[in-house]
Amino acid sequence: MESVYIEITDSCNLHCSFCPCGTAGDAGNAAMPRTFMPTELFEKCIAGAQEIGAKNVFFHVLGEPTLHPGFAHYLKKLEQTPLRLTLTTNGTTIERTGRHILDCPAVRQVNFSTHAFAELPRETAERHLQNVLDFCRIAAVERPDLYVNLRLWNVGAAEATPWNRYMLDCIRETFGVEVTPGHFCSRHKSFNISGRIYLHEDTRFEWPGSNKVTSASSVTLETRDENGATDSAGSSTGAPTGTLVQGTCRALDTHVAILHDGRVVACCLDYSGQITLGNIQENSLTEILKVPLARELREGFAQNELRHPLCRACSYCKRFSRKNNKA
Ligand code: SF4
Ligand code: SF4
Repeated sequence: MESVYIEITDSCNLHCSFCPCGTAGDAGNAAMPRTFMPTELFEKCIAGAQEIGAKNVFFHVLGEPTLHPGFAHYLKKLEQTPLRLTLTTNGTTIERTGRHILDCPAVRQVNFSTHAFAELPRETAERHLQNVLDFCRIAAVERPDLYVNLRLWNVGAAEATPWNRYMLDCIRETFGVEVTPGHFCSRHKSFNISGRIYLHEDTRFEWPGSNKVTSASSVTLETRDENGATDSAGSSTGAPTGTLVQGTCRALDTHVAILHDGRVVACCLDYSGQITLGNIQENSLTEILKVPLARELREGFAQNELRHPLCRACSYCKRFSRKNNKA
């Protein structure tokens, strides 16, 4: 296992229309209270990551990690381990947190979700972008080893076009590099700006299963018999039999995720815990990765079968389907 996603908070200070975190309501919403992972639980997570031989951690599934009051402290904790952090942030706190990030050798990459700014009032967005670009300039001098991605994952969204053009203008003014609008294509998403600073463009990301499927404990997975016939025993409330069941995914092979309350889920897209395998507060990560549900999912992926309803509703896995791989 290469990577563990640790959701240190499910809070965010923005409300992006395309994100379940942004649309679920404010902190304090009784239906979906927002929480910060306590230090003791965080320590269990990084111990678990080391136990399974992971090299990389991420600080999100949902949420803006730099809002966590213990963010700087958690960076220090990482420094005491061999783990390396890829931080994904909306960049709104970078003026305050940038110094901690630059001074932490455990941080190997920072991804800025600058597409989030496209939905903000223009003046606010420009201020945030300026702070992010200032960070990039300092990082290029002080941390030439640090990878920085300016993500613009809204290509094709008409309402975002003015913002995207403004951003490319700012990149030209700051770094003297011309990025032509429209250079993006499915095979060319990353554009080197300078040193290890990149612009990464993509279309909007779709979260799988916006409608909660069911709890993992009650779902019965679809399996196939030796002749390849579908056997859907039980009470799955997910995609009906006959919808996409073929496909594979690297979840539980290269990565696993831990939500803010310790629930271990199969992948970094399962923000609502639909494929909950266990809880790291009760069992070790090694034990949780051996539970029957985890084995069943892994076996399915190895046989090009999507056995969980959430996976069948997930467009992300189509990138890895064998049919697509042959293309
Ligand atoms: S900034 Fe990121 S986590 Fe926050 S609402 Fe937007 S996409 Fe979601
Ligand atoms: S197929 Fe999608 S939902 Fe299923 S484990 Fe993979 S990324 Fe997660």
